[in-house]
Amino acid sequence: MAGRLLLRAWTLRALQPGCIAAARPLHRAMSSLGGIPTDEDQATGLERRTLQALKQGKDPYSIQKPKHYAGTKEDPHIVPSIGNKRLVGCLCEEDNTAIVWFWLHEGDAQRCPSCGSHYKLVHHELPH
Ligand SMILES: [Zn+2]
Repeated sequence: MAGRLLLRAWTLRALQPGCIAAARPLHRAMSSLGGIPTDEDQATGLERRTLQALKQGKDPYSIQKPKHYAGTKEDPHIVPSIGNKRLVGCLCEEDNTAIVWFWLHEGDAQRCPSCGSHYKLVHHELPH
């Protein structure tokens, strides 16, 4: 409230004849700067690197929805890993309440011991 009153008093003073301050605009309009800045214009640091990578078609932080795989020998579920093995949980059927856990090792595709779906470990580099 006090800020508005101060602005109003400043505006009224600026509109008086002979006042030098009237020549200066009191505020800059967004249109004079080229419009409203986008997220990409305002992003800094990690967010900026992520937006640039997404623009190039990369997904270094696994932000986007994972691709769906059939789980067959020809189209195994791809499991990214920074090491040479990873613990995988398979929900064999859609309505199962129990998860089958097993270690997936680097190399050829492995099968889930319960349902037989194929999983393949793929080396994944961390972006930084
Ligand atoms: Zn399974």
